[in-house]
Amino acid sequence: MRYVSTRGEAPPIGFLDAVLAGLAPDGGLYVPESWPGFAPEEIAAFAGKPYAEVAAAVIGKFVGDEIAPDVLADMCAEAYDSFAHVATTPLKQLGPNRFLLELFHGPTLAFKDVAMQLLGRLYDHVLSRQARTMTIICATSGDTGGAAVEAFRGRSHARIVALFPEGRISEVQRRFMTTAIDKNVACVAIQGSFDDCQAIVKQAFQDDQFRNAVDLSGVNSINWARIAAQTVYYFTAAVALGGPARPVAFVVPTGNFGDAYAAFVAHRMGLPIARVIAATNSNDILTRAFADGRYARGAVAATQSPAMDIQVASNFERLYFESVRRDGLETGRAFRAFADTGLLDIPPAAHAFMGELFQGVSVSEADTAKTMLSTLNQTGELIDPHTAVGVAAAARVKLADPATPLVVLSTAHPAKFPEAVGAACGEVPAIPRATPDLSKKPERFDRLPAEVETVKAYVRAFAGRV
Ligand SMILES: *Cc1c(COP(=O)(O)O)cnc(C)c1O
Repeated sequence: MRYVSTRGEAPPIGFLDAVLAGLAPDGGLYVPESWPGFAPEEIAAFAGKPYAEVAAAVIGKFVGDEIAPDVLADMCAEAYDSFAHVATTPLKQLGPNRFLLELFHGPTLAFKDVAMQLLGRLYDHVLSRQARTMTIICATSGDTGGAAVEAFRGRSHARIVALFPEGRISEVQRRFMTTAIDKNVACVAIQGSFDDCQAIVKQAFQDDQFRNAVDLSGVNSINWARIAAQTVYYFTAAVALGGPARPVAFVVPTGNFGDAYAAFVAHRMGLPIARVIAATNSNDILTRAFADGRYARGAVAATQSPAMDIQVASNFERLYFESVRRDGLETGRAFRAFADTGLLDIPPAAHAFMGELFQGVSVSEADTAKTMLSTLNQTGELIDPHTAVGVAAAARVKLADPATPLVVLSTAHPAKFPEAVGAACGEVPAIPRATPDLSKKPERFDRLPAEVETVKAYVRAFAGRV
């Protein structure tokens, strides 16, 4: 299995190289050269299998022959053993034909653990064989940082620097990063937004000299292994609800478009998916793009669902690439221009292609809060604000066939956002029993301005030290 860049000007590489590289040297994102797939009988045979087994089968399609199947199976078994629920990602019924897919039973209580727990083990496997230590730099809108720190802390072949926007993430989110005492972890509060953090990471990757000096790698949602790992739960959920014979629709709370794009990948692999609804908060660049064909950056507003406070959805480039029939040069032109102007007019045929599977729904702050309360009243379930954006969007969607099951991805545990949930519901969710109490542990982090050179100097010093 080879991987090509969405910008068409980087040589194809294998799975492990694509995973370690993160961004391609031409600034594009790696995607498989051709889509692997499953026959309907193979998908049907996933029914009733343990999650880790389905994961090894699905992810194995992307790994090709670069990791032995039994090694990959062990990695998946270990990764999903870290989840507090034996079903790993259980489904819960919310109403007639309405379901929640709980993705938050991992160690840091958000869906990022699903991919990151595997990624930590994947890096360890490869880097120990290469006797190499890489520096992972990770921009976080709240949950990726904690999941990455948890997955990589104490590992001997990687050091990790997590950049988060100061004051724009919840205390619980922050503590999952800043209470790690391992010396291979550094946390930095950036004086800016998540988009600023992400821009710093992208620029750092484009500096060859810096990239080589610290042996840089990235685990943001552009990393192909994360996308691959996130396709798995679309299969397990669909099969549990009667797939592949019966198509299923998904509502995906969306920020960087990694999770929603993984649904597209599952669809490409042969899973019948009726519709994917990208649910956004007031940072609605994707909702606007799907509606009117203009991908136009706006100002980032802080909301109750901070992990989705994003106006540049990195993985959208991957969907665009597919939508222009994999024309890399056109994709490169479009996204370089977008970086300069903040505007991309999607060609009509590409926009129509996107609309075959995707639509967007944007949910206001008031509706998010109301949905947390009404869900509690109607079902007894406390849901977090990101999940609430999904549930509110689901209420507004009209599917072509009303008999299609609609699954809302529940992306974080409510205890990760006690302030927002408490304000909406008058009830503060308890931290699950398997999660250690981090509220009294000392925190350790540095503060830096949103300047790429300052951050690079910091990372160099850290990489030189540990
Ligand atoms: C990261 C995150 C999202 C958004 O996922 P993307 O892949 O960036 O679209 C939604 N909800 C929560 C809780 C998250 O942590």
